[in-house]
Amino acid sequence: MDRAVTSDCLVIGGGIIGLSLAYELAGRGLSVTVLEQGDWGGQASVAAAGILGPLQEFDQPGPLFDLGLASLALYPEWVAELREVTGIDPQLVLDGILRVAMDEREQAAFWERYGWQQAKGCQVQWLENSQLKRMEPNLSGDAKAAIYSPAEGHVNSRMLLKALTAACQIRGVRLESGVVATAPVLRGQRVIGVESSVGMYQAEHTIIAAGAWTGLIGRWLSLTLPIRPVRGQVAAVSSEEIPLKRVIFGTNGYIVPKKDGRVIVGATEDEAGFRLGVTLAGLARVLQGVRLYVPALGQAAFLDAWSGLRPATADGLPLLGPLPGWEGIAVASGHFRNGILLSPVTAKRMADYLTQNDLEPLRPFLPARFCEE
Ligand SMILES: Cc1cc2nc3c(=O)[nH]c(=O)nc-3n(C[C@H](O)[C@H](O)[C@H](O)COP(=O)(O)OP(=O)(O)OC[C@H]3O[C@@H](n4cnc5c(N)ncnc54)[C@H](O)[C@@H]3O)c2cc1C
Repeated sequence: MDRAVTSDCLVIGGGIIGLSLAYELAGRGLSVTVLEQGDWGGQASVAAAGILGPLQEFDQPGPLFDLGLASLALYPEWVAELREVTGIDPQLVLDGILRVAMDEREQAAFWERYGWQQAKGCQVQWLENSQLKRMEPNLSGDAKAAIYSPAEGHVNSRMLLKALTAACQIRGVRLESGVVATAPVLRGQRVIGVESSVGMYQAEHTIIAAGAWTGLIGRWLSLTLPIRPVRGQVAAVSSEEIPLKRVIFGTNGYIVPKKDGRVIVGATEDEAGFRLGVTLAGLARVLQGVRLYVPALGQAAFLDAWSGLRPATADGLPLLGPLPGWEGIAVASGHFRNGILLSPVTAKRMADYLTQNDLEPLRPFLPARFCEE
């Protein structure tokens, strides 16, 4: 590259978060460049099971729970727009999730969960064993009870990434894959871009959306951003002879029937550093967990297995917003198990900050909470 590429916004990382943000920013009239060291969405994002389940994933009311609900509410319109713009269908399905209790202890804990979710006005129903069997005949007869949340569901992460990448192209986002961001370009306390494996990129705003690698990039600026990789292993089996209607979720794993004939089962949480890969022990744990809910899964035809590195933060909340002590640089990362769910709301709120300086909705998630001097 002979001279620096200059844009209004430079996004480091082309996963679901970087692409969603780039699409949103370009829609607001900004010029945007995204740098991705590998393939678009090729890391954690493509590995995801695609569950959209704030009521399952967040164990207490609070800012993250509210963020999840807000993002779920954005999904139908967002996906419809992506489908319309690109002709690619992200296969959004919102026909409910069953959170299944397998013993009395879980039943008591889920009853409590049902209580606070109901008090928050969420759409939830309590189902007893007899009702469960009628809803999902393949469910184990040992299931005690379940919380049914009819408005949650799932999306096909691969198709969503394809649609987003195409939509970014259509909106004129400059997509540069195979490019590694290597160092910041500084003017005093302002970040004015990055050096990369192919040359310099300059921008008014640089946004780190580098998933599990975000902590490494923080070090460029001598900042400790507590984001670490937590590996997840999942498998896909054929849905033939296991015609499940909806997502089954529980303490021991999840089962996601996809529109394309696969059932995705998961997932492990491994502390394995940046090491990807599927292990037999990991697969055995997944199968052991999900068979409790649907015993027939043990006989399902195996199709595929893969892993990905979830970006986990020290306190479980994502890092969204400006980096303290520096100008021109922000972060959008640390979505751990819920980056697919949280992508539309992250894009919207980060874009509100970058275009209107609206920081208020990001308060609970500001990186400053880890960077006090
Ligand atoms: C097995 C598994 C199942 C999951 N299931 C779900 C689910 O059901 N629902 C849900 O909502 N979420 C799920 N998740 C979580 C979700 O996948 C993540 O939260 C989300 O993908 C994070 O997106 P991201 O864009 O931050 O990270 P990534 O997708 O990892 O993207 C970050 C990108 O940054 C790039 N990058 C890093 N450093 C540099 C650099 N220096 N220069 C250039 N590029 C760089 C990387 O190559 C990478 O592509 C799951 C995750 C896993 C692993």
